[in-house]
This record gives sequence, structure tokens and C-alpha cells, in this order.
Amino acid sequence: MIIAVASGKGGTGKTTVATNIAALLAEGGRDIFYVDCDVEEPDGKLFLKPEMTRGKTIKVPKPEIDADKCDGCALCREICQYNAIVVILEKAMAFHELCHSCGGCRLVCPMKAIADTDVEIGAISEGKAGNLGFLHGELKVGTPSAVPLIRELKKEIPDSADVILDAPAGASCPVVETISGSDFTALVTEPTPFGLNDLKIAVETVRILGIPFGVIINRSKSGYDIVNDFCRKEGIIVLGEIPDKRAAAETYSKGEMLFRAIPGFRELFENIYENIKIEIWKYKNSGEKGMAV
Ligand code: SF4
Ligand code: SF4
Repeated sequence: MIIAVASGKGGTGKTTVATNIAALLAEGGRDIFYVDCDVEEPDGKLFLKPEMTRGKTIKVPKPEIDADKCDGCALCREICQYNAIVVILEKAMAFHELCHSCGGCRLVCPMKAIADTDVEIGAISEGKAGNLGFLHGELKVGTPSAVPLIRELKKEIPDSADVILDAPAGASCPVVETISGSDFTALVTEPTPFGLNDLKIAVETVRILGIPFGVIINRSKSGYDIVNDFCRKEGIIVLGEIPDKRAAAETYSKGEMLFRAIPGFRELFENIYENIKIEIWKYKNSGEKGMAV
């Protein structure tokens, strides 16, 4: 079972939810991996404090242009969607900082002037936090896209384990790459107009991808029903509400697990996980696509 935890914007408590559920399940004896796909800002390690056991550098191919063979036809510049190639004085030049490694320029070059050269985009590390398997990626500063690193990171996940994917914030390509193929996506939000606005975008994304999903409201407090009202209207399941407590903020700031430190939070995260399991079961037995179930 692969559960992605995502949010329309940063700072909603996505990593708090992902790490607490993963650690709670591992404590209960489950074979489970936490995978931090937020490769531009991987902070799951601060809370889970894993012992790292192995790591590897990830490289992707980028174009290297042989000026002697290039006749300046500019076909490579025309096909590049990322403006990573310029042609000056009838010679093409590639800017690796803008290149997304699609390989299109090499394919169209009639002079066979473009070859691949491997360029480092980041690293992947694996470790253990007690029983919990831990994987994360760290994107090299200046790398234009997190997608190739997330793709490589997901290849490292063992088939046998259940998985909690901690997605990047937002609704752009790295989020789509992370949550694609997951059995369920939990969208974490907060009950504010900003939270709701970004939640709506995230909901559109998971609906387009046809992934079953539900919402977790963090920093929930009475009288702030804006997200509940939206979910009710849209027929979206609210998986749980994490109350806005000073103790939660203090525990978070110390890098500790909420479910261990605050009475009632263990049951809270257990209930959220049970609700996710029920939603996955309902989805698999209904065949419904692109809607919450
Ligand atoms: S497609 Fe090939 S020959 Fe044409 S400008 Fe690009 S590198 Fe040069
Ligand atoms: S590999 Fe793709 S993104 Fe990179 S320079 Fe060539 S066409 Fe542009």
C-alpha cells in the first residue's frame, strides 16, 4: 500500500502527518518505509532521526554539443521547451542549468553533433529509524527540476513494504511525479482562506490523476469551518482534524513525534490511518475514478 501525503502549500504540517503515521505504524511492527520526496527541502530526517546506511549520487544525461559538427540549423533550439539552447554565430550552445534532460535535441540533430554527458543532480540516502525504513533525496542546488531525482528515489522503494510518501508542497510536476502510482493521497491543509485556496488546486490535481484522496485539517479550531464546508459541498472525506494546540507546536519545534508526546494524539493518528484504509477499501470496491470515495 502506497499512501502519499501532500499539501497545496508549504507549512501546513504535511511532514508532521507523514512522519507521525509512518513512525506509529513501524512501532506497531509494520514493514514500512517513509520516503521523503520533498527533495528540495527534505526535513523528515529531523523528526525521524534515522541512522543512514547507504547513499548514492544521481546523475542525468545533458547535451554536449560538438561545435565542429554543428552547422547552426537551430533544430535543437526549436525543439527545446525550456530555452536551454541558443545558437550564436551558427553554433549551438546548451545551458545545463535550464536543461530538463528530455533528450529531444539529440534526437533531432541532423549532424549527430549532440552527445549525452552525465551531470550530477543530487543524492539519495537510505537508513533506518528503529523498525522504520527511511529514504530521502537531496536535490543539488541549481538543478532545474526535481522530477528526475524523485523518479530515481521511488525506484529504490522495496516492493514488499508499505510506503508513506512525503510529497513536495504545491501542485506542480514534482508533486505529480510523487503521487502518481499511489493508492491514496492525504491532502493536509489548515482552516484558513489561504489553506483552502491551495487545497482546491491540490484537489483538482488528484482528481485529474484519478487518485482517491481525503483531507486532513491541521491546526483545527472551533469556529474555523471553511475547509469542512468546502469538503462537505464537494463530497470529500475529512480523514481527521489535528487540533491547534500549543503543545503540538512545542513538540514540533523540538523535532519530536506528536503521537508520543501529547496525550490523545496516538489515537488521533491511528484513526486517520484507519480512515485512509477504509477509503482505499471503498475505492477498490467501487472502481470510481477521480473522486473522493
Ligand atoms: S540541431 Fe545539431 S546541427 Fe543543428 S544547431 Fe543544433 S547542434 Fe547544431
Ligand atoms: S535535453 Fe531537452 S531540455 Fe535539455 S537542452 Fe535538449 S531539448 Fe532542451
